[in-house]
Amino acid sequence: MASFKVPTRDMQFVLTELFDAPALWSSIPHFEEVSEDLAMAILEEGAKISENVVFPTNRNGDEEGCRWEEGIVTTPAGFKEAYQTYAESGWTSLGGNPEFGGQGLPKMLTSFVEEMFYAANSSFTLYPALTNGATLAIDAHATEVLKQQYLPKLYDGSWSASMCLTEAHSGTDLGLIRTKAEDQGDGSYLITGTKIFITGGDHDLTENIIHLVLAKLPGSPAGPKGISLFLVPKIKVDAGNNLGEGNHVSCGSIEHKMGLKGSATCVMNFDGSEGYLVGEANKGLAAMFTMMNYERLTVGLQGVGLSELSYQSAREYAKDRLQGRASTGAVAPEKMADPIIVHPDVRRMLLTQKAYAEGNRAFASFVAMKLDIAKHHPDESERNSAQNLVALLTPVAKAFFSDRGLDVCILGQQVFGGHGYIREWGMEQMVRDARIAQIYEGTNGIQALDLMGRKVASNSGQWLYQYCEEMEHFISVCDQSADIPEFIQSLKDSIHVLKETTDYVLSEAPKDVNVIGAASCDYLNLVGLVTLNYLWTRMAAVSISKTHDSFYSSKVKTGQFFIQKLLPEIKAYSAKVIAGAGSLMEFSDDEF
Ligand SMILES: Cc1cc2nc3c(=O)[nH]c(=O)nc-3n(C[C@H](O)[C@H](O)[C@H](O)COP(=O)(O)OP(=O)(O)OC[C@H]3O[C@@H](n4cnc5c(N)ncnc54)[C@H](O)[C@@H]3O)c2cc1C
Repeated sequence: MASFKVPTRDMQFVLTELFDAPALWSSIPHFEEVSEDLAMAILEEGAKISENVVFPTNRNGDEEGCRWEEGIVTTPAGFKEAYQTYAESGWTSLGGNPEFGGQGLPKMLTSFVEEMFYAANSSFTLYPALTNGATLAIDAHATEVLKQQYLPKLYDGSWSASMCLTEAHSGTDLGLIRTKAEDQGDGSYLITGTKIFITGGDHDLTENIIHLVLAKLPGSPAGPKGISLFLVPKIKVDAGNNLGEGNHVSCGSIEHKMGLKGSATCVMNFDGSEGYLVGEANKGLAAMFTMMNYERLTVGLQGVGLSELSYQSAREYAKDRLQGRASTGAVAPEKMADPIIVHPDVRRMLLTQKAYAEGNRAFASFVAMKLDIAKHHPDESERNSAQNLVALLTPVAKAFFSDRGLDVCILGQQVFGGHGYIREWGMEQMVRDARIAQIYEGTNGIQALDLMGRKVASNSGQWLYQYCEEMEHFISVCDQSADIPEFIQSLKDSIHVLKETTDYVLSEAPKDVNVIGAASCDYLNLVGLVTLNYLWTRMAAVSISKTHDSFYSSKVKTGQFFIQKLLPEIKAYSAKVIAGAGSLMEFSDDEF
């Protein structure tokens, strides 16, 4: 069976030694009450709940799955009790607006909490994660009345939320949606349509479910510019915040799917359901995008959490499983064979897992830090430059963490050999659970297009070059102070490759409209690897003088492994980008 311990020591390292979050928090009035002690107390308490309350539901949730009977969805045994403990101990309100009962904590901290719960049980964690996303949209765009009415109950966990975008014929292209909204002239609208694939659309964890639904008003422009966002409760709420009658919202069925069996993926029918406009009419997509940067990072964190879980299980197994002898001679001569961790190829797999799990944790925290600065820093220029980096790096975080998360889970399965393929050990569940993060919240192909098209090409690479300047500034400071020449040289080289590749795309894109689409996924991987190069160099810089302690020597050595064994892939990604679009687009349909 898989086991799990939250890596609180590593989280502390990232927060306090890598990024000095306490100093940042004290410079931002919104966070001035957040200290290192408070942050560590939250992480340690979160670790207890995720290890002891949520993780024990993970295996059973996968075996039993959700059930749909006569329109009613039931979550697997143990989910309800675990959710109650989770909500009662305040985990549903961590990042929420304090005006309405939220705790207002920084994303840098809450992202670690998300990671640990995704590791403990991704299916379970999706229910509160979707609620978090919805509260961000409501807080940013709904009227004061709606906020007063809905946010406190969503924050205290007695209600949950869903995001209803997708329809059978409208996934990536939301401009095609058909769900209708009809103005009743009294501030409310009647919503009619069917949404598919709705995570947490129905379940038995909370007394009400609040749906955020994309729909079209009569006469609205065709395509994405004619979409509005509505808040639609499953059960109506009166002016005194009491639950009233049902609102003609029903769950038509749930999907039978590859993984995430404990998460109910629902077909949701809205049959003239009463809803309320969130934000302006026809600006629904923009309202959704307010929370997109947070949500995309959250989906990426699913990949990071599962990477950690898979690495921990594979590491323990590799120390225990006896097969073959070390090529340098027996290391456990008293046993029938050596543990498989002696074999170079098993070490390659484990270290790849470790380099991505720890590297992407630091990367996620870096993006979370920029999100916190972009939203709350008192200095406008700090806010603006952080916002540029958030915009640039969020699609990378979502796609890179989820792609590498799946790779890492497959490596963990491989370390177990045939035992990784059978259900008992839990390794194949991780692979199945990790897979979806590449698909939902905008497929990774769409993230890559967003990066290359909207975040790089559309501003002539301005944000990308700003990011390169930040990395180069670090090099100039670090060159003189830290003794890590191998790291510094690798970072200089990879920034050079990134700039050269970006220059190519920017110069070729105006000549061939397919250059961006053809380059985007490879380019995203390149940006992801260069970012990890930057962060492993920063981690080495703060660890190099403390290598008498194995935590720090392990950091430096994992960084060296990353540079020598994983980073060289950037040259291949760059070459693929520079190969252009020809080999893709010169194929006729008949030739496929
Ligand atoms: C388990 C699960 C949970 C989900 N939860 C939710 C939820 O809570 N709420 C919700 O609204 N939706 C949810 N979804 C839906 C999910 O977000 C969509 O499946 C996803 O956005 C892709 O849409 P699609 O399936 O229609 O694929 P399509 O849009 O048909 O895409 C098919 C393929 O074509 C590619 N493609 C499409 N357009 C382009 C383009 N312009 N350029 C390049 N490539 C393109 C895509 O990348 C993809 O590889 C969930 C899905 C699943 C499976």
